[in-house]
Amino acid sequence: MRILIAEDDAVARRILVNLLQKRGHEITATCDGTQAWNALQRDDAPHLVILDWIMPGMDGIDVCRRLRTLDKDISPYVLLLTGMSGKDDLIKGFDAGADDYVKKPCDADELFVRLRAGERIVNLQIESLAARDALRKLATNDFLTGLRNRAAILDDLSRECRRSSRSNLPVNVVMVDVDHFKRINDTYGHLLGDKVLAELANRMASEVRSYEAIGRYGGEEFLIVLTGCDSQGAVEQADRVRRRIAEERFDIQGVKFDMTISLGVASSWQIAEPREELLLEMADAAMYRAKRNGRNRVEAAKPLAPLMPLSPR
Ligand code: GH3
Ligand code: MG
Ligand code: MG
Ligand code: MG
Repeated sequence: MRILIAEDDAVARRILVNLLQKRGHEITATCDGTQAWNALQRDDAPHLVILDWIMPGMDGIDVCRRLRTLDKDISPYVLLLTGMSGKDDLIKGFDAGADDYVKKPCDADELFVRLRAGERIVNLQIESLAARDALRKLATNDFLTGLRNRAAILDDLSRECRRSSRSNLPVNVVMVDVDHFKRINDTYGHLLGDKVLAELANRMASEVRSYEAIGRYGGEEFLIVLTGCDSQGAVEQADRVRRRIAEERFDIQGVKFDMTISLGVASSWQIAEPREELLLEMADAAMYRAKRNGRNRVEAAKPLAPLMPLSPR
């Protein structure tokens, strides 16, 4: 395990480093509290920390207090090295946020036992963090395509609408429906159909910028939320997505065929106030127009109701 040590006494530091390296630990050694504090603020700082209590400048207690103010996903396990063993001293150490202490001069066996406890706690934190990330991914990502799921992409849209209300910058919605997808299932079966959906999603995602969002809206329907462009730009980007699908044949497990998509684009600039239901409705109507007009095309939405001219009261 990676361990950070802060010990101002050169001899004690060398002994400690040697002991721990022999046990296979990877050591970052610092000579005072300030050095330790600087090292601990880094994102890749070790999760196990051994701090000498008494050091010139910032002492172990100061480092510990500051460390506990950092907003870290994994709270480092801190072992204090101390010559002080009075009850009040120990309370002071724990109050500062130390997890445990070892009396100086260090007994190697005792140090190892206490480090093992720290290692267990750090590993538990790492595991629960990984589980949390996996759950988060499950909650927001579509299992088949890996894209944002319906709830997550609608959430993105809603957030962008609120942002757009404040900033007056446009938000654009692209509704995508795969053309004649049923034929794929009917001809090659649902399993291959699933793989086609995943490939469609990959290709579309590659045309969407990192600060924009794409999600699976329903079965073979997708939603793209574009924020970095006006309505004309959104239509152009939608057409890039369309071409990315249409211009290269699909080859899924040796089965080759062409696929196309129909897209409808709606922009908040077409309506008085960015409202997600209205944008979705407009993009959906435009997408159906693209279907009626021959598929494999992009249609821009028309405002559902004529805008009332603003007139002074
Ligand atoms: P159109 O061009 O009019 O959109 O034709 P279409 O065949 O795509 O339209 P339709 O809505 O009739 O069919 C959509 C099909 O998508 C039907 C459904 O079985 C299929 N589908 C939806 N979700 C999935 C999925 O997760 N996996 C697979 N394999 N097929 C799916
Ligand atoms: Mg000291
Ligand atoms: Mg459909
Ligand atoms: Mg379809």
